[in-house]
Amino acid sequence: MSDNPFFATSTLVHELPPFAEIREEHYLPAFDQGMALQLDEIAGIVADPEPPTFDNTVVALERSGAMLKRVAAAFENQGDSDTSPGLQELDAEISPRLARHRDAVHLDAGLFARIDALYRRRSELGLDPESLRLLERRHTAFVRAGAELPAADQQRLREINAELAAAATAFRRNLMDDTRARAIVLDGPEQLAGLSADAVAAAAENGRALGRDGSYVLSLKNFSNQTELAQLTDRSLRERLLAASLGRAAEANGPLAIRTAGLRAERAALLGHPSHAAYVVADETAGSVAAVDAMLARLAGPAVANAEREAAELLAAARADGLTSIAAHDWAYYAERVRQSAYQVDAAELRPYLELERVLHDGVFFAAQLVYGVVLQERPELVAYHPDARVFEVFDGDGGSLGLFVGDFFARDSKRGGAWMNELVQQSHLLGKRPVVVNNLNIAKPAPGEPALLTWDEVRTLFHEFGHALHGLFSDVRYPLFAGTEVPRDFVEFPSQVNEMWMVRPEVLANYARHHATGEPLPAELVERMAAAESFGQGFRTVEYLGAAVIDWAWHTLPAGTEVADAEEFEAQALARAGLAVAAVPPRYRTAYFSHVFAGEYSAGYYAYIWSEVLDADTVEWFASNGLGARESGEVFRRELLARGGSRPALDCFRAVVGRDPEIGPLLARRGLA
Ligand SMILES: [Zn+2]
Repeated sequence: MSDNPFFATSTLVHELPPFAEIREEHYLPAFDQGMALQLDEIAGIVADPEPPTFDNTVVALERSGAMLKRVAAAFENQGDSDTSPGLQELDAEISPRLARHRDAVHLDAGLFARIDALYRRRSELGLDPESLRLLERRHTAFVRAGAELPAADQQRLREINAELAAAATAFRRNLMDDTRARAIVLDGPEQLAGLSADAVAAAAENGRALGRDGSYVLSLKNFSNQTELAQLTDRSLRERLLAASLGRAAEANGPLAIRTAGLRAERAALLGHPSHAAYVVADETAGSVAAVDAMLARLAGPAVANAEREAAELLAAARADGLTSIAAHDWAYYAERVRQSAYQVDAAELRPYLELERVLHDGVFFAAQLVYGVVLQERPELVAYHPDARVFEVFDGDGGSLGLFVGDFFARDSKRGGAWMNELVQQSHLLGKRPVVVNNLNIAKPAPGEPALLTWDEVRTLFHEFGHALHGLFSDVRYPLFAGTEVPRDFVEFPSQVNEMWMVRPEVLANYARHHATGEPLPAELVERMAAAESFGQGFRTVEYLGAAVIDWAWHTLPAGTEVADAEEFEAQALARAGLAVAAVPPRYRTAYFSHVFAGEYSAGYYAYIWSEVLDADTVEWFASNGLGARESGEVFRRELLARGGSRPALDCFRAVVGRDPEIGPLLARRGLA
């Protein structure tokens, strides 16, 4: 095993995993050994003849599982970013075993007895605030995992968790397979009229990559409304493309979703909660199902009214083409026409000013330097897990090395859809670790030698994901449990949303938005028209988002034992009940391809995006009106919030920055819902 790179701590800078040496066959033995080692470590804690102390129990638990963390972080990253049939097999095998392993830790009676004994005397232990919080959070995690349940219930919990893990893996795999299978294959480019030349070239390249030379392939992105719908002039192709998207994985994943929701409800009941959603929000900043219900109900009506106003504008434009109503596959197309005629904003006109390297260096990194004083330097000699994944070292204002940032921007067949951040190494002073974080996007890779020109939304996504990266990179906590993004789910999107504001700050925009060929700056009047056009489309975006949030919420507020016969029907009823059944605006995700909630960590948590946007919009106001410069404001935001990770209650961090509780007004104004 000496040649297995996971068996030792990486010697690379900041413990970057030694990707050049990692092969698929290293994962399984490393998982086996990693789990066995942690169980040994825990047995050691439990068998300690000394009475429990904070150090010999709680800190010892924080130190345990180092090897398992190493292998799991690399494996999860590769499974998302560059998977293979072999890794998918392994995922199916290892997921239920990892679930059993987590249960073995959390349901270890001896370990919980020691933690519980400490917890009961916590005020007498003389702990500093972060250590006290660690003890409290660990205790809560054990209780929420079932540590206080009778043995028979714990046994049932173990079965449920293992089955849920297997179901999530199957869901993910079905979705990936069916997304590939449903790609639209065309014999010639004629039907692609309306698409830009590089999009047509990318479709031809897709065809070649799939071994179908001469054909043109539109592969599906993971959300409902495919981006090409805004450009394709051929209405029948638009209809076909959207239908392919909306029907994804329905047959295989519908029943899996029903089963998953049922098991989660049963588990929640075992743990004393009326539903999975109630179980989840009890540990979030929202606090209760009623709070989320109220939020969704408050936004639904005004958002639908907004979307209806937009639909009337679209129809006015569509009548010229002989349409008498706007179908779902027409919405994006006519929204684009209205943007062009009413606001003179043409998405295609914008893209030459949004070249990836420029946006990255002169936009995203530039803003981070402006606001936080950090500098990023590419380290081409450091190898990541794929040739397209690039490693940068991040330096703080004082020149010290903060950590590493891996940027993996291009789409490929082996990568899942969407955009996300993850961590290969989490910061902690206890373990002496600096953070290594990854951003993944799905930007279409240009032909060799061609520039990667982005859409406005892709620029936003770059800034957004880098906001998560900064949360990880600025982490300054003692215990790994609190590192960076280890905050409530309905809080974690907030710092990343805040980072989006810099893309339109005049000094930042002027710095990155330059024509890739001529170097000309983006014309100021185009920027103004963009800003005006931004508010148009909020109705659609909000309804699309709320639809998905309501679907997630409906599945997870079900009491245990509820029978659901058909997933699609259940979904339709949930949307109708919420007043969000708008035929022309399908939800951003439908049940069968909603991997955030059925194969990811957002179950009963998709509401979190708009929940945290309340904090975001409020914080953007704070940055604009606090009388401090960007750099000084950034310092406060970093010190009081980003650096704290989960080491202090989330809303306390918010209050420390803004000086009061969050207010919803700025969000309502931004979304046109006031
Ligand atoms: Zn995010």
